[in-house]
Amino acid sequence: MFIQVFPSGPFSTNTYLVACLHTMEAAIIDPSPESFKKVALLIEEKNFKPTQILLTHSHWDHIADVSLFKKKFAIPVLVHSLDSPNLEHPGSDGLPMWVEIPAVKPDQLFSEGDQLKIGLLIFSIIHTPGHSPGSVCFYQQENGKLFSGDTLFKGAIGNLSFPTSQPELMETSLAKLAMLPSETEVFPGHGPATTIHNEFIKE
Ligand SMILES: [Zn+2]
Ligand SMILES: [Zn+2]
Repeated sequence: MFIQVFPSGPFSTNTYLVACLHTMEAAIIDPSPESFKKVALLIEEKNFKPTQILLTHSHWDHIADVSLFKKKFAIPVLVHSLDSPNLEHPGSDGLPMWVEIPAVKPDQLFSEGDQLKIGLLIFSIIHTPGHSPGSVCFYQQENGKLFSGDTLFKGAIGNLSFPTSQPELMETSLAKLAMLPSETEVFPGHGPATTIHNEFIKE
């Protein structure tokens, strides 16, 4: 399994390029502002075949370059149904946007428990509302990897004071993540990677 992180844009939002090294199929997770050129270059260098764009949620700093990837690779963009409105109408979630973001229609909506494939890698969708209504984490069980978006960071949790945040749902969402194997590596939407152990196990 190949994972490369590209912190980009004014909030150093982590875009991830994830690929199956058996089939060379790849996905772009959260195309942040100014991530497009860097990621497209590596896709070309590695000879990856992009098959989809996956969104942990639709805050502007996680969707800014979606339209560029869609145009270049003609691939579908997938998002949770509750976070699709801000993809179709950027700014409708009430967050001030620092860059102009073209509207994009999602090609597929996912929900809790759905599975999706990047090559031979199977990812489960864990719905983790709180930071935003349609926030999700992508969990790859065999390799013990979790892409946590803005739900869980190293040493912190997502901001719950945004217009569409649902603070009352966050505890249940975090409890779902705390049940994952403690050695699971966590790749957040901002900042360095961590593990479930480091975030939930008190010693
Ligand atoms: Zn966010
Ligand atoms: Zn963010």
